[in-house]
Amino acid sequence: MNFKDYIRVIPDFPQPGIRFKDITTLLKDGQAYRAAIDGLKELVKEKQIDLIAGPEARGFVIGAPLALALGVGFIPIRKSGKLPGETVEAAYDLEYGKDRLAIHSDSIQPGQKILIADDLLATGGTISTTIGLINQLGGEIVGAAFLIELSYLNGRDKLNGIDVASLVTY
Ligand code: AMP
Repeated sequence: MNFKDYIRVIPDFPQPGIRFKDITTLLKDGQAYRAAIDGLKELVKEKQIDLIAGPEARGFVIGAPLALALGVGFIPIRKSGKLPGETVEAAYDLEYGKDRLAIHSDSIQPGQKILIADDLLATGGTISTTIGLINQLGGEIVGAAFLIELSYLNGRDKLNGIDVASLVTY
C-alpha cells in the first residue's frame, strides 16, 4: 500500500513554512489504518518489547493499536498537568513552539524494554524528551517506531543512536 496516498499534506499549518502531514485522512480509512499498524508491527516484531510508550495525542493513535497488535501494554506520555499520579517531567522544543511532557513515575520498572511509538519524527525534540523520561525511570529503550519520518529535519541524529523504524519517509 502506498501510504502517502492516504496522508494529506497541508501547507503553512500551523505556521507559514510548515508542511503539515495530516494523518486523519489515513486514520479514517479502516484498511489503510490497519495496514499501517500491521506494517509497523512487521518492522519491530523481532524486538523484545515489554511496553510501548507514546506521546499524546497522535502517539496514542499509533502506539496503542501497535501495543495491542504486539500483545504488550501501553504507557501514555502526556502534556504536563494531565496525568493524575506522581510524574517526572521535562521541557522540550517542537518544530513549532515549546511544551512540557510528563510520565507516571511508576509506569516503568527498571530494566523493562520499551519501544517508543509516535505518528511522526520531525526534529526529534519530542522523542529525545521522551527518551530522557524513560531513561530517568530506568527503562531500556529498544527502538522507536513512526508512521512518518521527515528525513530532511535529521531527527534521527538527536536520538542517541536508538534504532528507528518508519513506514513513510519525506
Ligand atoms: P518533533 O518533536 O519536531 O520531532 O515533532 C514531533 C511531533 O510534532 C510529531 O509527533 C507530530 O505530531 C508533530 N509534527 C511536527 N512536525 C509536523 C509536520 N510537519 N506535520 C505533522 N505533524 C508534525
